[in-house]
Amino acid sequence: MKIRVAHLYPDYLNIYADRGNIAVFERRATLRGHELEITSLAPGERLEPSAFDLIYIGGGQDREQTLIAPDLAARGEAICKAVDGGTALLAVCGGYQLLGRGYRGRDGSTMPGAGLFPHETIAGDKRLIGDVLLEVDLDGLVTTVAGFENHAGRTLLDAGAAPLGRVVAGHGNDGTSGYEGCRVGTAIGTYLHGPLLPRNPVLADWLLGQALAHAGGSDELEPLPDELERLAHAVSAGRARSRGGR
Ligand code: GLN
Repeated sequence: MKIRVAHLYPDYLNIYADRGNIAVFERRATLRGHELEITSLAPGERLEPSAFDLIYIGGGQDREQTLIAPDLAARGEAICKAVDGGTALLAVCGGYQLLGRGYRGRDGSTMPGAGLFPHETIAGDKRLIGDVLLEVDLDGLVTTVAGFENHAGRTLLDAGAAPLGRVVAGHGNDGTSGYEGCRVGTAIGTYLHGPLLPRNPVLADWLLGQALAHAGGSDELEPLPDELERLAHAVSAGRARSRGGR
């Protein structure tokens, strides 16, 4: 099947090589006989989000976020509609912040958000940095997710909002709640960089499965050997565990 992917603002939001997540989608899809068609989006370009099976947005510094925030916010309604219709979405760090209601940066100015995730973000004085390990339940698929976080923003989920997971080690959304990321249907937002997906193949396949279902196929994917991926996950999880709890 052809999986249509929209990569939002790759020239602005690509901190810690977040673009590597796209390479993982591409490789894991190709190994199962599927094809990824990637469309990059720059500010001002036309795009119909529901015409895509998967939307991806990476992380960036406050400066880069400021440059794309108004453009992204203006697309908020269309992105919410696409996710409502089953388009899969992965947002990392800066992109995750801007898919909420907004982000108040260190200089006190507020960037508008796209309003997909029920949260808002306020920059704190101390950056939250280090390896992270999460316990995640994706509709009964219970797994761990490992990665690296580096953010000044404290993301406060609305009451009743679903996080991506529970923090086993690391800071998470705000350093105190014990939660990390946010989940709205087929959309996942997270602070985890690294990039995230090479060491978290279960999460990569869950997102690919949602995208395939949206494309009209089955969300079942043949298993891959994933020996290196599992080793990478174990190393990353071990680093987070040795760092200890929050
Ligand atoms: N600028 C944001 C923050 O510091 C996001 C940083 C990032 O994407 N790593 O909170």
